[in-house]
Amino acid sequence: MKKLQKETYSAEETKALGEILGQKAEADMVFLLDGDLGAGKTTLTQGIARGLGISRHVTSPTFTIHKVYQGRLVLHHIDAYRLEGISQDLGFDEVLEDGGLTVMEWSAFTPELIPANYLRIAIRLKDDDNRVFEFEAHGEAYEKLLEEIA
Ligand code: ADP
Ligand code: MG
Repeated sequence: MKKLQKETYSAEETKALGEILGQKAEADMVFLLDGDLGAGKTTLTQGIARGLGISRHVTSPTFTIHKVYQGRLVLHHIDAYRLEGISQDLGFDEVLEDGGLTVMEWSAFTPELIPANYLRIAIRLKDDDNRVFEFEAHGEAYEKLLEEIA
C-alpha cells in the first residue's frame, strides 16, 4: 500500500487536484472519499469531473445516492451516507465494473461495497480554507496513479 499527502488552500485548488485525478483515471477505477461534512468530497469530485471532460455541474448526490455523468469515462458519483445499515443488494457491484470511474462519498458506511483495489482519499478540514488529503493506494494501478500525481 502506497500513501501520499497533499494540502490545498482553496476550493479551486482542490478542484485542480481533482482535475488531475480525472485526467489520469482509468476504466473501472474506484475512488473512496471519506471526511466530515464540508470537508470537500463533492468539491474534489467536481474537479475529477472536469478532468474527465464533463461540463455538467456536479452536485452533492446525498438525496439521490447515485448520479451518472458522461465524460471521457462515465462518472458514477455515489453518496453512501443514507445507505448506512442497508444490507440489501442495490446492484452497485455492476456499477463498479461497467468501464467507468466510480467516486464514492462516505464509503465507510457501506464496507460491503468496497472492492479489493481502490484509491482511498481521506480529507481533513484543517482551517477555514485549508484541507489535508491523505491518499492510500490499494493495488498496482492506484500506486502508479499516486506516483504520477506526487
Ligand atoms: P463534502 O462533500 O465533503 O460534504 P463539499 O465539497 O460539499 O464537502 O463542501 C466543502 C465546502 O468547503 C465548500 O463550500 C467549499 O467551497 C469549501 N472549501 C473551502 N476551502 C476548501 C478547500 N481547500 N477544499 C475544498 N473545499 C473547500
Ligand atoms: Mg458531499
